[in-house]
Amino acid sequence: MPAPRVGVLSLQGDVREHLIALRAAGAEGVPVRTAAELATCQALVLPGGESTTMERLLRTFDLLAPLRAAIEGGLPCLATCAGTILLAREIRDGLPGQGGLGVLDLAVRRNAYGRQRDSFEAGLAFPAVGPEPVLVAFIRAPRIEAVGEGVEVLARWEGEPVAVRQGPHLALTFHPEITGDPRVHRLFVAGLGGV
Ligand code: GLN
Repeated sequence: MPAPRVGVLSLQGDVREHLIALRAAGAEGVPVRTAAELATCQALVLPGGESTTMERLLRTFDLLAPLRAAIEGGLPCLATCAGTILLAREIRDGLPGQGGLGVLDLAVRRNAYGRQRDSFEAGLAFPAVGPEPVLVAFIRAPRIEAVGEGVEVLARWEGEPVAVRQGPHLALTFHPEITGDPRVHRLFVAGLGGV
């Protein structure tokens, strides 16, 4: 079985780390900047970065509609941080006009951890990836304030959901890709059925 080809939306954000983590998880990671590149992928990572900038660039590069169509057609997504904001049904504290893709039945609040906690690392209990905690980074992270009925919570931090699954999609408010632990990517890749 060939390694699944997983795109990483490469308009902005921490693309390189995801490509490395995907490789470590047994997938072929490819940068995606165009609809043609998107069409070659079995799944897509939406990285962290800045959701407002990413949404603007998606419009500028005429990628918003193809991305929406691909997801509606069943393209599984791994969304991290800003990527989760992009996919959420409701964005709180978004910029005027920030609409997102409305794929995930979540309400998320941008930058909800406040200034003094802009960034922190955490050993997160994440049973779906194994018994040992995953070292992850929260970087100006959003907070998931509401989840719909079809959303399964996979991990919580201080009682609040920080990793969720909806259908083929995994969405995280943290960064799993910068601490060198590929287990979250492995969970996503394993769900594609190709490894
Ligand atoms: N605060 C960013 C936003 O609103 C997300 C931060 C991140 O992706 N690390 O898009």
